[in-house]
Amino acid sequence: MADYDVAVAGGGPAGAATALTLAKCGWRVLLADMSDTEAFRLGEGFAPVGHSLLRDLGMLERFLADQHRTSYGTVSAWGSDELQASDFIFNLQGRGYQLDRARFDAMLRQAALEAGAKVQEGMRLEPILDVVKPGSFRLCLRGDKPVREELCNSQWLVDATGRPASLARGFGAKRMAQDRLLAFWTLLDSTKIGDCDGRTLVESRPDGWWYSVLLPSGKRLAAFLTDADLADRPALLSMEKFRDKLDETIHLRQLCLEHGYDVSQKPRGADASSARLNPVVGPGWLAVGDAAISFDPLSSQGILNALHTGIRAGKALDAALRGNISALAEYAEHLAKIYATYLGNRATFYAYERRWVDKEFWARRHP
Ligand SMILES: Cc1cc2nc3c(=O)[nH]c(=O)nc-3n(C[C@H](O)[C@H](O)[C@H](O)COP(=O)(O)OP(=O)(O)OC[C@H]3O[C@@H](n4cnc5c(N)ncnc54)[C@H](O)[C@@H]3O)c2cc1C
Repeated sequence: MADYDVAVAGGGPAGAATALTLAKCGWRVLLADMSDTEAFRLGEGFAPVGHSLLRDLGMLERFLADQHRTSYGTVSAWGSDELQASDFIFNLQGRGYQLDRARFDAMLRQAALEAGAKVQEGMRLEPILDVVKPGSFRLCLRGDKPVREELCNSQWLVDATGRPASLARGFGAKRMAQDRLLAFWTLLDSTKIGDCDGRTLVESRPDGWWYSVLLPSGKRLAAFLTDADLADRPALLSMEKFRDKLDETIHLRQLCLEHGYDVSQKPRGADASSARLNPVVGPGWLAVGDAAISFDPLSSQGILNALHTGIRAGKALDAALRGNISALAEYAEHLAKIYATYLGNRATFYAYERRWVDKEFWARRHP
């Protein structure tokens, strides 16, 4: 049975950044990810400030060579029907990107592997709870294709499972959600060639807001965000009704007409709530990325937060493994500050939209 210093469950950007940071320090690291590596992954906008995080991970050159789609900024109808542009050209850190997320996440896992981590793709990692002892976890790795099962031990466990935070919640931590925001999304196909607007389009509506981006694949992602109790789920998950909803927009509808886009896939739903885990550090474990704190997609900061908390968690665990346990409390405090700052920014952005303060979705977001 293999023994690890740290086992990381979840190979998204947060788990991969944690594993890469620790493997570079020479620790024995396991990184397991259960997702289908070929499947489309949501969350693509990568702001210019991400360059410095990739540089910290030693990944910037490799990322730039990977040719994700350049994003020149955001264009939004928020607070009025007029479109306002916010261009990355004014950003000192340079351009942003619309990522091919599956490729981006795979690149980070590959870097962790090259740094010495054991990477297991297509495998779910879970602690065997009846033999959990802080400082010595017995773990089970399970895969379906092909069916296989392995046991291993690890001193530390990192929950990088994304919003479900399934490991930490198994240890008794609670996810404290600020709202019940859901994203209903689909990919739009076009028969025409010519859409090359690499900016994110954001458009608010009386019952929520939309965003759309042109992906590296040439398809366009369209997502409608609203609260779980306000959403007509069966309608928003049907192609026809999703198309009707999209027709209520002004700018997105115009863009679809201009470039011949149509809904060609069944829409899907995703949790998009703002939430924090309480606590983010426990005996022998800690949480990173969305598992620890998750943001409204309006912020476009989920991947940045995943990379940043992954690097910070890696450094905190390195210190803890060397005997400085207080590094973990500092990590938890740091995350609490990030989340408090985020909530302030979120309130400011929602406050810019004042046209529908009498409507439930917006009333909830106004002081
Ligand atoms: C609609 C929407 C739009 C978004 N748009 C943006 C955007 O434009 N820009 C941005 O920065 N962010 C965006 N985000 C957020 C961003 O996608 C997330 O913040 C980011 O993916 C978090 O990374 P993570 O590594 O913490 O978790 P994830 O990316 O969710 O990765 C978790 C991984 O863990 C795996 N896993 C789960 N349980 C286990 C287990 N037990 N064992 C092994 N593996 C496991 C999962 O399969 C998954 O691969 C968006 C989110 C939503 C919902």
